[in-house]
Amino acid sequence: MKPKNIVLLGCTGSIGVSTQKVAADLPEQIRIVGMASRENVDGMEEAIHQFKPLAVGMTDPAKAKELQQRIGGKIPVHTGERGLVELATMPEADVVLVAIVGTAGLEPALAAIRAGKDLAVASKEILVMAGELVMSEARKHGVKVLPVDSEHSAIFQCLEGREPRDVKRLILTASGGPFRQTPREQFAKITVAQALKHPSWNMGQKITIDSATLFNKGLEMIEARWLFDVEVDRVDVVIHPQSVVHSMVEFTDGSILAQLSVPDMRYPIQYALTWPRRLPNSMPPTDLAKIGTLTFENPDREKFPSLRLAHEAGQIGGTMPAVFNAANEVAVARFVDGQIGFLQIFETVEKVMRIHEKGGQPGFSWVASPMLDAILKADLWARKEAERAV
Ligand code: MG
Repeated sequence: MKPKNIVLLGCTGSIGVSTQKVAADLPEQIRIVGMASRENVDGMEEAIHQFKPLAVGMTDPAKAKELQQRIGGKIPVHTGERGLVELATMPEADVVLVAIVGTAGLEPALAAIRAGKDLAVASKEILVMAGELVMSEARKHGVKVLPVDSEHSAIFQCLEGREPRDVKRLILTASGGPFRQTPREQFAKITVAQALKHPSWNMGQKITIDSATLFNKGLEMIEARWLFDVEVDRVDVVIHPQSVVHSMVEFTDGSILAQLSVPDMRYPIQYALTWPRRLPNSMPPTDLAKIGTLTFENPDREKFPSLRLAHEAGQIGGTMPAVFNAANEVAVARFVDGQIGFLQIFETVEKVMRIHEKGGQPGFSWVASPMLDAILKADLWARKEAERAV
């Protein structure tokens, strides 16, 4: 394989650190030419020594100055949101991996596509908020959008270029989170500490809460809808607590293909970065006999209204998925702060969606095929509305 030059945005978060491990494991094939972190100076300094990128970025200007002092004038340190765009469009880059939590990844992702780079997507917001726009820009510029999320990577691998018309259903697997067996009556009493304990994956805080509410799976339904050009009615969810089958595709002839491995993000990250090649690595093997049992069950949609709300948001489309995403982000932050209970996360999202559904409201109205500007406006509107609702 010809070595690939990677720009890694969000290099010190959970996905970023796993990506560093993948790159360290395949030094001949993967070269990190640019990397950015929001404010983690220590993590960045260490990564610069290890990977020797050509340029870096720190979103926080004070931290950027601190890093520049520590590393001397060796390489440029870009700063602010603008810095992320600089890195995403570096002439040396082949693939830009965006793993920034929140909406900050949206602009650099679009900039990368428009500069002709393949985009590896880890930030959910990119496809949830702007899936239609991102995919149409990617088609226009002839670049590939490569999923990093384990579920979408699995579906991508099962599809391998097959057409949407051959697909009966995409089947996203979900671990079910820590409250899979908790009765709904006890949901009101769920604490932050309980919600932060995920049974099979080790991830950042926001995504761990999203896994407990199944909003994570809801966001993934909308991402899958755009990534694979399959309407949300054909995106299904099955609970699979072992997290070994990462997702499946049921084809029109009734056959189901699945992708399996032990749950470790390095697998899907590597595939996104070496695609279309598969390369040997030092990953732990998947010992099926040791795993022993794989089980599947239907999600409890009464207990987890997040799946219904995601389906609605996906069907309504336009700016609704951005509103769905933003309202959830605010609700999760207020839950972690201790200001609202677990059940109010669902209630807040539903409340804000209902207002947006009615169309024109002060501040912002629903838009059918939004450009970046309208998407960001919808996001801001929904944040304000969610703060008011909690
Ligand atoms: Mg996932």
